[in-house]
Amino acid sequence: MDARETLKLYFGYDSFKPGQDEIIRAILSEEDVLAIMPTGAGKSICYQVPAMLLSGITIVISPLISLMQDQVKALNEAGIHAGYINSSLTETQIAKVYAKALEGKYKILYVAPERLESYEFTTFAGRVDISMVTVDEAHCISQWGQDFRPGYLKIVDFIDGLPQRPIVSAFTATATEEVKTDIACVLKLQDPKLVVTGFDRENLYFDVEATKRKDDYVLEYIRKHPDDSGIIYCATRKNVDSLFELLSGAGIFAARYHAGMNNEDRKISQNDFIYDRTPVMVATNAFGMGIDKSNVRFVIHYNMPQSMENYYQEAGRAGRDGEPSECILLFSAQDIMINKFLLDHKDFTEIPYEDIDLIRQRDTKRLQIMEGYCRTSSCLRNYILEYFGEKRDVPCGSCGNCHREFTEIDMTEDAKLVINCVWEAKGRYGLNIILGTLLGANRARLKELGTVDYRTYGVLKNRSESELRLLVSQMLLDGYLYQTADKYSVIRMGNIEPLKDPNTHVMVRASRDREPEHQTGRSRKSTDSLTRAGYELFESLRQLRLMIAREEGLPPYIIFSDKTLIDMSIKAPADKQSILDVSGVGEAKYKKYGERFIEAVTAFMEEHPDAVTSIKDEDKHDTVKAKSQVKKKHKLPFYLNQEDADKFEYHDLYLVSEIKDELNRITSAENVKHIFGTDIFKLLTRMGYVEERQVDGRTVQVQTELGLSRGIEAVEKISKIGNTYTVLMYPQEVQKEIVEHYVGNVGYLESDESDEKNAI
Ligand code: ADP
Ligand code: MG
Repeated sequence: MDARETLKLYFGYDSFKPGQDEIIRAILSEEDVLAIMPTGAGKSICYQVPAMLLSGITIVISPLISLMQDQVKALNEAGIHAGYINSSLTETQIAKVYAKALEGKYKILYVAPERLESYEFTTFAGRVDISMVTVDEAHCISQWGQDFRPGYLKIVDFIDGLPQRPIVSAFTATATEEVKTDIACVLKLQDPKLVVTGFDRENLYFDVEATKRKDDYVLEYIRKHPDDSGIIYCATRKNVDSLFELLSGAGIFAARYHAGMNNEDRKISQNDFIYDRTPVMVATNAFGMGIDKSNVRFVIHYNMPQSMENYYQEAGRAGRDGEPSECILLFSAQDIMINKFLLDHKDFTEIPYEDIDLIRQRDTKRLQIMEGYCRTSSCLRNYILEYFGEKRDVPCGSCGNCHREFTEIDMTEDAKLVINCVWEAKGRYGLNIILGTLLGANRARLKELGTVDYRTYGVLKNRSESELRLLVSQMLLDGYLYQTADKYSVIRMGNIEPLKDPNTHVMVRASRDREPEHQTGRSRKSTDSLTRAGYELFESLRQLRLMIAREEGLPPYIIFSDKTLIDMSIKAPADKQSILDVSGVGEAKYKKYGERFIEAVTAFMEEHPDAVTSIKDEDKHDTVKAKSQVKKKHKLPFYLNQEDADKFEYHDLYLVSEIKDELNRITSAENVKHIFGTDIFKLLTRMGYVEERQVDGRTVQVQTELGLSRGIEAVEKISKIGNTYTVLMYPQEVQKEIVEHYVGNVGYLESDESDEKNAI
């Protein structure tokens, strides 16, 4: 088998993404590799595919437990035997993993770096054939980076101690020149193949919103994107808590995460988010390392982060699946103050004295670069890419600034009047009083304070309040003014020296969103290629995925990504061959889930016989319609003969799916449609036994009072990995009623498809 076949068989993809092919080929010809590729570029496959083709085992060093668990789940789902060893396992469990690995059961084994030192591990390593050592998140090796992990320094000793040197491959998304050199040197890579793909994440839409009303913005945004999963990053725990309360109060399902919570609560929050139980996560930057959730559709920064490296890493958690996603930074002058405060109070106790100055300078520089990002009126994407060393000539056309028009007004004279007013106020009042005074407002409060007698009272009455607000925020940014950070925030004089120079200008940038027709740059979502029917199908496949995810105790995206479900909705596969054509459906997943998805697609197509799911196919509509009608004429709704009914094997309690299987098994009628679980559920609903209810934003199936009295039970089940979920089970009495319902031609009469009746 070659690399491409491996990719198709296990991962269900037809072609490699940029860089993957090159890396895999290098590894297979036994070269070391250092790959720097952005988040979502598909680094995992670069070592997982060759791991399948190399003779021995591949050891993957990964920094975080959650990351390992996620990857191992995904691999096992794809039909690749993989395991991990870390502190989340008991000694007995670890012993089992070693035993299995020694038997050659695993192609890939994940370990935490600290484990490499242990006696058990080195003994184990001496006894297996290790083909490759892969270092994931390799930037953790560098003391320059923010994620430095001392354990990573042990890797090279481990490799040196092996009886035979394996291929060494290293992967990271963030590597400046220094970090790159560090990785190659510290790992002692041997003439490595260096692969650097561009930093750009084309599917991400970047925007900066200068607003003080951040809460309103967030609420509005979430209301406009109710189906989307996203992360909101805040600078402080306090912000996390208050935003969390705000969202919860507004009826939005959110989870929160910060270092002030205990481990257990953090874990629950994280899982609620990963398993799509709560769509929104509000968190500090403590959250996110090791989150491979692929369908994060937006990342909003409630506060400005401290550096571009942080920002790009956090924002980059959006859209790993390549679907269009949004990264929005909410910015106000206050953010700069918060960050300066944080820097001033940074803990330097562990840092050698002589380094402190250097670090301080570096931090300040980073902050300035971030500030520049928030204030630039040119292309945001280019600003980021240029910072990481990628030169761009043309604006991207798909970021907030490319969609916006800016005008700059010179407000230097106005600025001087503002200064005079603040001077007269002696730094005692907040923004509203200052603005009211300058605008000459007729307010009782101003009279009370006596600002109506100021020389500056009304001097800017020809300006609008919003213009003045813009001016003041600009002056805060420029440092001419400053605002205290306490509850009764007042405006004080900053450094006004530069304003005395006649060459200094205070320019205020006013922006206006361009007309919608200019907004062509915003990437189209792949759901845009679905027709309405296609979208409905996509929704029902998502429901099915959620149901399976609950049963299996897996995050939904590990079953299939959104991208895969969209492709499935477009192709509407009716059989094995066509579902294997769907991107992201490999053999193992087909075996586990294929039939259920085919069934769901078929059920949908039978219910909507004229449906065309893909926009591209709409012009072919007529032929498709004709075909499906021909097919339809042949099939009758499900029914049973009396003799069939007698073959039903009754059981104390059955699941709907078991009743369905029994029914399909016993029918002797030819040319009838298969019956689906949903049909039976609909029937039970009509009988008044069950209903769907909204609980915690999810649709759940429950028995009614009547259903309870008929003996329908809700049974808790435990999935393979220990999650509990509830299913409804139906007693014999109810099973009999269902069977009787389908005996004779009752099925036809209940059918709402009138043409079918005519056909009989
Ligand atoms: P990274 O580690 O570089 O951030 P991942 O390895 O987690 O990225 O991959 C990101 C996503 O891209 C995953 O959903 C993965 O299944 C998908 N992917 C990887 N390679 C391909 C490919 N060749 N074709 C389509 N999708 C791919
Ligand atoms: Mg990765």
